[in-house]
Amino acid sequence: MKKGWFLLGKTQAAANYYQVFNPHTENLIGEAAESTPAEMHEAIKEANEAYEKMKTLTSNERAVILFRAAEILQNRKEDGARIISQEACKPVTAARTEVQRTIQTLQFSGEEAKRMNGEYIQLDAAEGGEGRDAYTIHEPIGVVGAITPFNFPLNLVTHKVGPAIAAGNTIVVKPAEQTPFSSLLLAEILTEAGLPSGAIAIVPGDGKSLGEVMLHDERVKKISFTGSPEIGKLLKAKAGLKKMTLELGSNSPMYIDQSCCEEINEVAEKAVKGAFAYNGQVCLSTQRIYVHAEVFQDFVRRCSEKTALLQFGDPLEESTEVSSLINKKSQQRLYEWVKEAETEGAEILAGGKKTGNGLEPTILLNVPSSSSISCKEAFGPVVIINKVQDSEEALEQMNNSRFGLNAGVFTNDLKQALDMAHRIEAGQVLVNDVPTLRFDHMPYGGVKDSGYGREGVKYAIEEMTELKMISLKYR
Ligand code: ADP
Repeated sequence: MKKGWFLLGKTQAAANYYQVFNPHTENLIGEAAESTPAEMHEAIKEANEAYEKMKTLTSNERAVILFRAAEILQNRKEDGARIISQEACKPVTAARTEVQRTIQTLQFSGEEAKRMNGEYIQLDAAEGGEGRDAYTIHEPIGVVGAITPFNFPLNLVTHKVGPAIAAGNTIVVKPAEQTPFSSLLLAEILTEAGLPSGAIAIVPGDGKSLGEVMLHDERVKKISFTGSPEIGKLLKAKAGLKKMTLELGSNSPMYIDQSCCEEINEVAEKAVKGAFAYNGQVCLSTQRIYVHAEVFQDFVRRCSEKTALLQFGDPLEESTEVSSLINKKSQQRLYEWVKEAETEGAEILAGGKKTGNGLEPTILLNVPSSSSISCKEAFGPVVIINKVQDSEEALEQMNNSRFGLNAGVFTNDLKQALDMAHRIEAGQVLVNDVPTLRFDHMPYGGVKDSGYGREGVKYAIEEMTELKMISLKYR
């Protein structure tokens, strides 16, 4: 497979290409365009021109395109899953789930395109306001610039593209270097569905040089970024007055209280899923688990048993549950963090060794909060389990983080669930559920260093539009 960059409804030949490898087998998957800054300029110029056309489409016409795209993807599901599986090194069963979610994200986008309602403002609530009607409308903003990571190369890109189209904007995407092919598939599908030429561009290549162009071009009205906190901060510092959404990482916590003793097996099942699904390379991944002393031993034993059963292998094998990490740098970094924690007194309950180009799913006990594996984002298959005496100690530990994306609480005590949900510093709290659960219409985003702004189709549309107030005086 050799694919260029995507502009004006088709794949364009590039001057230079780079090689994309399957991180597990190290086999060559294909070659992708090493796009130049000049090509990024061209994509923005075309997207800006296409905006004139997009503005003339009714919300129904935009919805029809999005629904049609969902249908086309439905028919190309296996294509999508195989591309994701190979380039992102994702077990193929999980890649199929990602495609299914992408279909839904497109459908939600189509539905929300038709629901961009404003509101009536009661002006006579102010003295002298009588005799007027006022209402709000959501207007598109123009060209949106999206910079995306490797971990959900189709659905995460669609979380930016779907709402942008629903709102009547155009979009230029800079996909992660490791995963250019999924986003190219999305652009092809949207074009086949009838999206106006130029309304989507996919510009693969180097983040820094292509990102610079997006940041400095005034025609780009908004940057929607998902990736590491380090790059997020860097972009924010340079974005000037552009609108921004930053979806960054976390070291997400979870708490299990003593009231869960009877269903501790089920809780362990959910915790293992939260920690090790897609090798922990998920922004929401559970990284720190705090367990009440009364159920600690039982919980730890069950987590260890379940973790030992996880099947490591080639991402394209149906039985594979965990595979190699996205690159060797990530493998080495995590391995060093595990060793550091061990030196600081932590016990390795499971895993801890390199396997293939990955790391065995690893459980660490008694990790100090200052250890890298506790206070930084792991983005890999390592989870910490620490014992606490009560919910107050758990809350203190959970909030002792520079991040705040999501958290899980397991309890049968309703008052405790609500109290903790209110006091945890995070964008979302999941009670008695897989702590990484995400449905694609849910608001999604973080506080603290996990970023700002919300995705989830309806919420992303709000961030990709401007609210205009119109007032009419009738008396
Ligand atoms: P990850 O660790 O998940 O790969 P990164 O933050 O490194 O996360 O990358 C996310 C996206 O940001 C990728 O598309 C990458 O190319 C892009 N990127 C990396 N560095 C920069 C930069 N300096 N400016 C703009 N984009 C960047």
